[in-house]
Amino acid sequence: MKEQKEPHPFKLSQPVIHRGAWVISGLPSDARKGSHGIIEDGALVVADGLIQAIGKYRNIAKDFGHCRTREHEGKVLAPALINGHCHLELSHLDLAHRIHGQGTYNGDPTKWIRDLLAEREELSKAAVDAEEVMLGRARQTLQQMSAEGVGFVGDVGNSLASRFIGDGQRTRVCFLLELLGLTKEAEAKTFARLENMKAGKLQDIGCTPHAPYSTTPALIQAIKKQADRQDRIFSIHVAESSQEVEFLQTGTGVFREFLAARGAWDGSFTIPGKGSVHYLESLGVIDSKTLCVHGVHVDHAEIEILAKKKAKVCLCPGSNRFLGVGKAPVTEFLAHGILPALGTDSKASNEALSMWREMRLLREDHAGLLPESVFAMATRGGAEAWGIASDMGSLEPGKQALVLAISCKDKMCKAQEIFEYLTTAGEAADAEWLE
Ligand SMILES: [Zn+2]
Repeated sequence: MKEQKEPHPFKLSQPVIHRGAWVISGLPSDARKGSHGIIEDGALVVADGLIQAIGKYRNIAKDFGHCRTREHEGKVLAPALINGHCHLELSHLDLAHRIHGQGTYNGDPTKWIRDLLAEREELSKAAVDAEEVMLGRARQTLQQMSAEGVGFVGDVGNSLASRFIGDGQRTRVCFLLELLGLTKEAEAKTFARLENMKAGKLQDIGCTPHAPYSTTPALIQAIKKQADRQDRIFSIHVAESSQEVEFLQTGTGVFREFLAARGAWDGSFTIPGKGSVHYLESLGVIDSKTLCVHGVHVDHAEIEILAKKKAKVCLCPGSNRFLGVGKAPVTEFLAHGILPALGTDSKASNEALSMWREMRLLREDHAGLLPESVFAMATRGGAEAWGIASDMGSLEPGKQALVLAISCKDKMCKAQEIFEYLTTAGEAADAEWLE
């Protein structure tokens, strides 16, 4: 009797070879070999949403000759972009009109915060269901990012409803609930909220303290402990403006006035007398799972601390320009072995939320940066910062096939020209998902 063959319990799809004019692996470049993490006439083998192999097309064709090949003529195949810092829930807040077309807040972050709060207040009065409006615009923004080739967004929000923004969307969203409080009363309220969340169904929600100037040291430490327990990254806005550093060093300046005017100052906060990173280091919250967002006003010793602790940094050039707070010392970060992530920050502090534009702005701000380093920030840097580098951020066997097919411009025939184009094209970049 002939043996009956049982059907395979999982139907595996046939691997497909994707061949591109160029394939960017996104792995650290080996300048000596001239590889720059880019393969001319390269190919990827993809099956069941995972990368099986990557290499020169002629080698891949030898090993996977039986598989169907999809040609992506004149295209660069590259890892999906990673937005290392965003507040999707602020997508409905456009503050550009409040600075009357000047394009910058001239370095006064407290003026920006005042405008942000006023805009929020006005919209919540005007809209019948403000939350619905907020979520709708946030989802639209996320879809737009997805259409531009963003595979992951590290998202921060004050509303618990924002944790659902990424549901059912192609782009993966990791949401962190932002907490703050600098007075004794506000600190007690936030601790009570944390306890309630822990006791209820919200115990798995990740949290983030807003910034060193808005959150008490005890809260910052408690949120870091919780992040460690949950095995999550610990993200915090750090050294965004010189006024932040002035406040932490001396207890004076526009932040002190702003806190007092808002009733958020009761004198209980002990002025640390040091810069943002020195201060966080003294609280014991800087390690390899700490993500310092902005990192504009850090001194040499602070960069050394971040490097030594293998802490992560996320740069937001578009937001920094909008607020006029200065430029982060990118070259120094790179020289210390820190590959920063790149983030758009929110629509409230940026004219557009495009990772292609962020790369272009960073290049404009730092003429000496290598284009391939900037592209690595927008991909691998973000993945490392959010602890997802085993899944995405580069193209390697075993990783998710989150791959973009980007149209080349005519006559690009050198690896450097490809990276030059990708990091200066801005919103003009034409990227499609491979699958
Ligand atoms: Zn932010």
